[in-house]
Amino acid sequence: MVVARSAFTVTFPARFHLVLAMNPCPCGRGGQATLPGAPSCVCTPVQRRRYLSRISGPLLDRIDLRVTLVPPTLADLEFGATDAEPTAAVAARVLEARDRAGRRLAGTPWRVNADVPGPVVRRRFGLDAEAAAPLDHAVSRGLVSARGADRVVRVAWTVADLAGRDRPSRSDVGSALAHRDSGSAWAA
Ligand SMILES: [Zn+2]
Repeated sequence: MVVARSAFTVTFPARFHLVLAMNPCPCGRGGQATLPGAPSCVCTPVQRRRYLSRISGPLLDRIDLRVTLVPPTLADLEFGATDAEPTAAVAARVLEARDRAGRRLAGTPWRVNADVPGPVVRRRFGLDAEAAAPLDHAVSRGLVSARGADRVVRVAWTVADLAGRDRPSRSDVGSALAHRDSGSAWAA
């Protein structure tokens, strides 16, 4: 990780995946369908907004994948999720996607899409006009920052790698954008 300021530039060895989890509101039941008789969210809209604003915009801007998790139902707990894909199948798909990215990045210092610096993403791995349309629209409306746009492009490449496509399609970009804002608590 390189921290650049006007007076100095420092390189710290750092390679990690940051995974954060939070509740949708102070009571933890916001946005959930509840069974009759079960307690439901008691938070006011102001309380929810205050709670969610504890993650600052600049930090949130660096979180590429935002996923809303729905609590398991009683049936899930009793019978297990029947439509869940086995972990081994997912692992094989991820390995294949990483191979595909690795082949594309062969001869560069980078191994995965997340490693590629923003200027290189724009210069060498830019989207074609058709695929870029949803992202251009989001940037022009101020929904995605310049830094965020680079991050969306990286995720779109990963979505394409997972799907076995040579380059991101418009729907891959849409998917990357949707992961950035799952339309959940963040939008509240
Ligand atoms: Zn609540």
